[in-house]
Amino acid sequence: MGCDLFSLATEGVQGLHPYQPGKPIEELERELGITNIVKLASNENPLGPSPKALNAIELAFQELCRYPDGGGFKLKTALCERYNTQIDQVTLGNGSNDLLEIIARVFADKQSEIVFSQYAFAVYPLVTQSIGAKAVEVPAVDWGHDLVAMAEAINDRTKLVFIANPNNPTGTYVSKSDLIRFLDAVPQRVIVVLDEAYCEYIGGSHQDFPDGVSLLTSYPNLIVTRTFSKAWGLASLRVGYALSHPDVADLLNRVRQPFNVDTFALEAATAVLADDEYLELSRKTNLDGMQALTSGFERMGVDYIPSVGNFVTFDTGRDAIAVYQSLLAQGVIVRPVANYGMTQHLRVSIGLPEENARFLKALAEVLGK
Ligand SMILES: *Cc1c(COP(=O)(O)O)cnc(C)c1O
Repeated sequence: MGCDLFSLATEGVQGLHPYQPGKPIEELERELGITNIVKLASNENPLGPSPKALNAIELAFQELCRYPDGGGFKLKTALCERYNTQIDQVTLGNGSNDLLEIIARVFADKQSEIVFSQYAFAVYPLVTQSIGAKAVEVPAVDWGHDLVAMAEAINDRTKLVFIANPNNPTGTYVSKSDLIRFLDAVPQRVIVVLDEAYCEYIGGSHQDFPDGVSLLTSYPNLIVTRTFSKAWGLASLRVGYALSHPDVADLLNRVRQPFNVDTFALEAATAVLADDEYLELSRKTNLDGMQALTSGFERMGVDYIPSVGNFVTFDTGRDAIAVYQSLLAQGVIVRPVANYGMTQHLRVSIGLPEENARFLKALAEVLGK
């Protein structure tokens, strides 16, 4: 008789519900036998990659046989120039998900509590569960983080707080004054992770949106994480970074795998950081698309959660899975958010004008609007 292999895993891993990614285009193509599929399910940049990034990758092909620069010197230098930090404050990650997991492993264990908001990014409960720590989920207010309640949820066992700003899947954000009040209330022995995966989309359009990097000098317990997956258009390459106090970066870099970011990712990310034109176009495409989608929702009388990200979550007014399936049948992939306890909502990423139009047309048909 074989032993029960499942029971060999740690308690945390046994209770883990793996991350559910958006449905891949190829999978739906196979299922439906059609090709003109629109994927608005994973908050990807609809523009395609920057030509500067593509060029950098081409130049790097010959280095395929070599290990990447484990120190990521070129990319770190470019980040430091752009964001005015020191090189010993940077930790590179295989996507920023990698960093969220590294941070959890560095600072928390089975005895710890980790605080985050209801409806916050699904990876926070996941990494908490995987290390066997206790998740403390604080009820949201108007779909957003309640920072006052989150500060009150901190106790002697709390090691980490995750804040997504803006948050995925709700698109809400915390203001600079609320964030500062929160950071002032948090004991310095508690690490605060400010996940700014979508911050590039804001670009000065909301005066009260905080710039996490500018707060690092005042709050040594603050870690800012960012990614090249969204506005910078490099989701497939898996590259993100954390900016923090140098002592924190030193700890993160001890746990990080030595070659967690590959040469193509390092080269492409360095190149795209110099491509302000691409970033501007990403922002503009996003703003225009957001406008198109929200006007469409308003025309149809569909409720949505106002978002500053590159996605918007809307209320289907019924069991959302049926709507999701009907949209799939029309070749439009969006994202269910039932795993967040939002059973009537769906999240749609902002696409190109024609993709947004396809989505709106399909939605109108499905909802009979
Ligand atoms: C997309 C996303 C990330 C980043 O993912 P990576 O591709 O791993 O960099 C991080 N946080 C939030 C809230 C996200 O939505």
